[in-house]
Amino acid sequence: MIIMKKIALITSGGDAPGMNACIRAITKYCLNKKIKVIAFLDGYQGVIDNRYKALLLEDVDNIIHRGGTILGTSRSPEFKTKEGRVKAIEHLRKHEVDAFICIGGDGTFAGARVLSEEMNIPVIGIPGTIDNDIYGTDYTIGYGTALNTVVEAVDKIRDTASSHHRIFFVEVMGRDAGFIALNGAIASGADTALIPEEHTDVEELAKHLKQSAKGRRGTIVIVAEGDDAGGAKEIMQKVAPYLKGYSLRHSVLGHIQRGGAPSAFDRMLATQMGVFAVQLLEEGKRDLMVCFKNGRITSLDIQEAMKKKHIPKLSKLELLNQLQS
Ligand code: ADP
Repeated sequence: MIIMKKIALITSGGDAPGMNACIRAITKYCLNKKIKVIAFLDGYQGVIDNRYKALLLEDVDNIIHRGGTILGTSRSPEFKTKEGRVKAIEHLRKHEVDAFICIGGDGTFAGARVLSEEMNIPVIGIPGTIDNDIYGTDYTIGYGTALNTVVEAVDKIRDTASSHHRIFFVEVMGRDAGFIALNGAIASGADTALIPEEHTDVEELAKHLKQSAKGRRGTIVIVAEGDDAGGAKEIMQKVAPYLKGYSLRHSVLGHIQRGGAPSAFDRMLATQMGVFAVQLLEEGKRDLMVCFKNGRITSLDIQEAMKKKHIPKLSKLELLNQLQS
């Protein structure tokens, strides 16, 4: 068992609901163990600028239900430079931190890996991103909540789509990964999902919609923003010439997918992952990512998590197809 006195903590990259629940769990567990938590503000940029807060119990009271991150986050191009990291390392050394925990996505882990190498400090990554696109974990913190937000929004769009007999193209987040689009489509009863992992043939899509929209009150197509045929608006414009006489609309859900109170699942996931991260460090482990695999909280080499890609099960597209009329 390693006795630690102080750990550094950041949230970095895109914010995700449940990050606060994770910050809370880490802080409460550490303070119970007499470990101080120095939280740097706005991701790696806060480490470079030495902007920080020593977290106390009162800082993490009443935050489990809040979306976003109380620590702030940012994209820090400066941390990608050697000069930027020299400043960051100087500050971490000055604070005499024993370890570094970061909550974020792939980019955040890349930063942590470099930090571990250049400073020789144990690092642990916790996957927090609404995109769920991190290898080694079945779920990332924030993904479940974002999915619920999408389903809630599509339910509302369905009401107007069916009142007007419209075909609606709903764009959801997912520049590189189709998790939100695919599972959002299944859970909201959409006709189909267009995802970056699969080529979209516009003519085929138009033919299919012509058939499936016939006699139906409303049809929903979920489009991941990174689909190869374009976003919702572009795809709607591309199919329009084939669908004369049909009423077409599009809607971009945008940043509402990032915010809001985390779901019960995300709060539980974040709490368990946060505590586990500190326990790994107490066991003397380093350079790992915490994951949730097959129902268990476990860990994986952070480099392996970064090297490989997590892609949604394409059999789920087949499932959507099997339900089409
Ligand atoms: P995410 O963690 O959500 O994938 P980013 O890709 O924006 O988000 O990464 C978050 C931050 O991590 C970046 O702004 C940068 O400061 C740091 N980072 C990303 N890649 C590297 C890298 N190769 N070397 C050092 N720092 C990096």
